Amino acid sequence: MTEPRTPAPSALTDLIHHPYEPTAPFSAPQPGVFKASSIFFPNVQAMRSWDWKDKSAFTYGLHGTPTAYILEERIAALEGGKHCLLVTSGLAAISVVGLAMLRAGDHVLLPDNVYGPSKGFAESELARYGVSVGYYQPLSVEHCASQIQPNTRLVWLEAAGSVSMEFPDLRALVQLCKEKAIPTAIDNTWGAGLAFNVFDLDGDGSHRLGVDISAHALTKYPSGGGDVLMGAITSRDPAIHRRLQATHMHMGFGVGVNDVETILRSLPSMSLRYYAHDAAARQLAGFMAQQAAVVQVLHPALAGSPGHAHWKAQCGGKTGPHGLEGAAAGLFSVVIDPRYTQSQIDLFCESLRWFKLAYSWGGPISLVVPYRIGSMRSLPEESLKPGTVVRFSIGLEDVADLQADLAQALQKAFG
Ligand SMILES: *Cc1c(COP(=O)(O)O)cnc(C)c1O
Repeated sequence: MTEPRTPAPSALTDLIHHPYEPTAPFSAPQPGVFKASSIFFPNVQAMRSWDWKDKSAFTYGLHGTPTAYILEERIAALEGGKHCLLVTSGLAAISVVGLAMLRAGDHVLLPDNVYGPSKGFAESELARYGVSVGYYQPLSVEHCASQIQPNTRLVWLEAAGSVSMEFPDLRALVQLCKEKAIPTAIDNTWGAGLAFNVFDLDGDGSHRLGVDISAHALTKYPSGGGDVLMGAITSRDPAIHRRLQATHMHMGFGVGVNDVETILRSLPSMSLRYYAHDAAARQLAGFMAQQAAVVQVLHPALAGSPGHAHWKAQCGGKTGPHGLEGAAAGLFSVVIDPRYTQSQIDLFCESLRWFKLAYSWGGPISLVVPYRIGSMRSLPEESLKPGTVVRFSIGLEDVADLQADLAQALQKAFG
């Protein structure tokens, strides 16, 4: 038992300072959940010298606890990176990258189909700090090259692009930026570290060609529950990591450990879920392609979809666990024939029984969102046929039930 203490503290004090510490070894499937704002130092010398930046010590909860570091290491491994920082959301991952890599007078280039709020951050916040913003056609390397300015200091990539799902020629875009010594960052939420390796686009372990930074909304597949918001910023270069880490610290974007715990719990099943979402999405995208009301299906693994050849080159080749080529997440969009009215399209979305009207994706419940794509694009939309875009996120329900649901809603709205 514990040593006698003189003078003996009162029971009230022992509710706070009780000396018992569990000593037996403890090993279980999930890592321990360590929560802290304050972290104790053994002496003043330690307080002055301990450095959290290289993870050799813990100094304050904002900079991480053992639980958060475990998730960082796992996400870095998942994405093929070396360093990872956790932030409060996927959007925070995007904003930290912008704040860390850019300064007044710089120019940042985004694909025109980039995640919408990423445009909002650049145009509202970065612009206020004197950073100018440009857009490139995601499927045109030539257009991207033509938009690069002498002061371009960051080029964003996204594969597949948001809502319209074009898959860009990542290799050529990264090669172009490398030749001009411009750092690249990718929004890797769709690929999630499973569809392709953003730091090794040749996929041969050479790391000859890859992006500098990956921003990933862990909110989506790593969480898989539709109940947690978190983001990760992954990199390989130590100098870039230090810049990101400094901005991360100055902004105070530490994450809550309850949320870290939830994601650590979901991570082991992520690959199983990802390929199950993918198989169901491909079946339903194929079903939607046969419907009279649908003029175009936007799914990078479907032949004829914008950028399909680039998807095949980057994510194809191997056969996945469901016998399908490559990996392609659980998302697709359709373009509804322009002869139908907006209220018919709204009726279609509202008539779905299993698909809920909601943003985000990666959870067990299928979701649907009608978009006004025209208001989201800064450049002429080159890949889409005229009509209204409806985006589906396929959950983990029985795919036969989802297909029957789509069929009854199509019938009700479009006859
Ligand atoms: C959801 C999403 C984000 C933002 O993630 P949040 O955690 O919701 O802020 C960023 N990029 C893409 C592609 C996303 O789908």
